[in-house]
Amino acid sequence: MVHFSDFALHKSIQQAIHDMGFEEPSPIQEQCIPKILEGGDLIGQAQTGTGKTAAFGLPLIEKVTGQNAVQAIVLTPTRELAIQVSGELRKIAKYKKVRTLPIYGGQSIGHQIRALKQGVQVVIGTPGRVLDHLRRKTLHLDQVKMLVLDEADEMLDMGFQEDIESIIRETSTDRQTLLFSATMPQEILRLARKYMQDPQTVSISRKEVTAPTIEQVYYKVFERSKLESLCRIIDSEELELGIVFCRTKRGVDELTEALQERGYMASGLHGDLSQAQRDKVMKSFRDSTIELLVATDVAARGIDVGNVSHVINYDIPQDPESYVHRIGRTGRAGRRGIAITLVTPREMKQLRTIEKVSKSTLESRNVPSIEEVLERQQTIWRQQLVSLMDGEHELAPFMQVVDGLHEDYPVDKIAAAALSLAFSSTLADDASETYDFGETGASRGYVRFFINIGRSLDIRPPDLIKEMTELVGISSKAIGKIDIFENFTFIEVSEDVAPFVYEAMRNSRIKGKRVNVEPAKPRAKRT
Ligand code: ADP
Ligand code: MG
Repeated sequence: MVHFSDFALHKSIQQAIHDMGFEEPSPIQEQCIPKILEGGDLIGQAQTGTGKTAAFGLPLIEKVTGQNAVQAIVLTPTRELAIQVSGELRKIAKYKKVRTLPIYGGQSIGHQIRALKQGVQVVIGTPGRVLDHLRRKTLHLDQVKMLVLDEADEMLDMGFQEDIESIIRETSTDRQTLLFSATMPQEILRLARKYMQDPQTVSISRKEVTAPTIEQVYYKVFERSKLESLCRIIDSEELELGIVFCRTKRGVDELTEALQERGYMASGLHGDLSQAQRDKVMKSFRDSTIELLVATDVAARGIDVGNVSHVINYDIPQDPESYVHRIGRTGRAGRRGIAITLVTPREMKQLRTIEKVSKSTLESRNVPSIEEVLERQQTIWRQQLVSLMDGEHELAPFMQVVDGLHEDYPVDKIAAAALSLAFSSTLADDASETYDFGETGASRGYVRFFINIGRSLDIRPPDLIKEMTELVGISSKAIGKIDIFENFTFIEVSEDVAPFVYEAMRNSRIKGKRVNVEPAKPRAKRT
């Protein structure tokens, strides 16, 4: 197994990696980092979510020197990605003085010019705005030693080819050029041939893996209410012993704490714990004094506990192999097991890859509503009360309290107050994510969306329904009226899935075209 410490990275960067909570390099990182550190051009291909940013970000930050000039430039397709990559680079450079700056359209150029004047060593930008600065001579790339084209396929899709080439020509020819992409269409290879020197190629292909035959389901959740969704799911399951997977060590710590605060018996397990702490957690897990073990992939690797009833992917696994490893922790020795995966709209594609490569189908379920959770909780409380009353439990001291009260209060009120005392901390709270799409002119119970694709792309209703059921993971029954015009489409979807449709479609692509989704404006009434 390769560790981050095997790479020739300065200890300030090793410390930053540790703080970021990464336990071990992902496959693309394992192969790219040493090659980039050595020098030479490189093409890296791996699917989305596999850690390509740190694959170039770690060696990039390592190589930045004290020189006061733009030494590295990263081009990304969108403003969001520029900000995201810039954030990740800052975390990597936490203990090293490196001045980084994201530059993108939509932000005041004056502000960027001032920041550039103060001296920046690493620029992360979208091609349009970078070019703008080059033309204004507010950005100079003649000292650039490393050029990174991140998400290259997306940049080309968005029509940035010429801009990219103009930018590349402004950099010195002895630069190191890196190109990262999820896919490798012809145009990228052409670009690579034109501007890269004998590039090495690292391609992480997906090995086929077989998932065990256990019940596999997924829940569509939103990033901002993920915790609440998890709690509702847990509350609605007959959970004996569960392992909850998070991507990072920090994620484990945060989730464990949040679950404990909400009254769950949870403990965290990751590589930073001492052997003694680890043993203690594992013992309480085996003895069932805890019900949830929150862990990273690495930490859970060695675990072999027989009665794990649930594996819950709080963070979707980074690759199908890891999915298969994770879910293999349940359903041991012929017991019933269930694997639950939480999927945010952006992660829907990753789920489809996992399904395809692991040859399994995950059944889609909706996060239980607050009413459903309450109903289920009430059943549990009733059962607990009945077993107390029928059992041999010592109720006498409590009886005395009831006796003292029942002259002034009705017994049913006393009982309800007692229940509230016992259980109100476990009462689910309503953090329903309300998206208000306003009046969209839809039929009752539906939301009408405007989508910027139409007949000119040879789209017919069945195509659209197929795309949406796959991409968004909704049933075709949730789709209502579709009106396709030459260059746009109106589509109605049922209210309960509308937020998900909105989030998932907005970042997607249909027939190669980037999709823009907006709530429709109500039709103007004809008079
Ligand atoms: P990509 O560019 O391949 O789509 P990202 O670089 O955006 O993927 O990484 C996806 C997520 O995985 C980010 O949240 C990142 O912080 C996290 N990540 C990257 N490398 C690791 C690692 N070695 N261990 C744990 N998490 C990682
Ligand atoms: Mg990326």
